[in-house]
Amino acid sequence: METYYQIEKMDGYDRISSPENVFSYVIVGSESAMLIDTGYGYGNFREVVRTITEKPLYIINTHGHCDHAGGNAQFEEPVYIHEKDMELCREHTSENIRRDNAERAKHNLDYETGNEYNGLPEEFHMETYAALGCGDLRVVKEGDVFDLGGIHMEILETPGHTKGGISVFYREKNLLFIGDAAGHFVWLFSEETTSREEYIQTLEKMYALNAAGYIGGHNPDVIEREDFLLYIRAAKEADYEKGEPFHAFFGEEYCPRVCAVDGMTLKEMFQPGFAAVVISAEK
Ligand SMILES: [Zn+2]
Repeated sequence: METYYQIEKMDGYDRISSPENVFSYVIVGSESAMLIDTGYGYGNFREVVRTITEKPLYIINTHGHCDHAGGNAQFEEPVYIHEKDMELCREHTSENIRRDNAERAKHNLDYETGNEYNGLPEEFHMETYAALGCGDLRVVKEGDVFDLGGIHMEILETPGHTKGGISVFYREKNLLFIGDAAGHFVWLFSEETTSREEYIQTLEKMYALNAAGYIGGHNPDVIEREDFLLYIRAAKEADYEKGEPFHAFFGEEYCPRVCAVDGMTLKEMFQPGFAAVVISAEK
């Protein structure tokens, strides 16, 4: 377990990473603490969080996707999520989706090297994992504030990637934890995605916030405000007809397309200046 999850001390928060390829964040105030997202929860995630803090814990799901809510049920504490993502969260933590995800994780792909690796920890037990459920979900909305003692965490609605996507604003540090709401490679093709216009409004709202840093669920680097201008351009210019098929996850039958700025391709995903949205014909 110790080697499955890693904890890094950042400026004002802790970052938890693992072979699950998703980041969770812990912010500790003088009275209580906040956990932002719970990963897939393949390992003993709760125990790792509890090595950081024993304080009362508020748990937030930035959205209902399985890689952000899968570890919810390891906790007794309630998990706060936007109402519009509740159903999505229940579906994404259902038995069938858990089994599919865990099977797929045995052959996780390293995007950068193209190598396959087993993304499950040694102690993983399929039957236990499949039956976990979604945790004790509670509703949050725009403007809700969690006072951790000297630290105020405010909920902002940031729909796009999902209809009920939220971000959490750490007022004292001027940092915004955004989940998958923005980035250089945003999936906007699913049923749970909003219209492209609504996604663009979210990007503009985040840009206007003028945060010192934007911290995502998959990007190891802190996103800077200026990057949002590129993301907005990627979203506005995206044209399905000119997009590059995204077979990696979806095969031939249902295939969203990657629309990147300046005619860039997936091969250039980790180059500076790359920004893309992945869209379906309808979106
Ligand atoms: Zn997501």
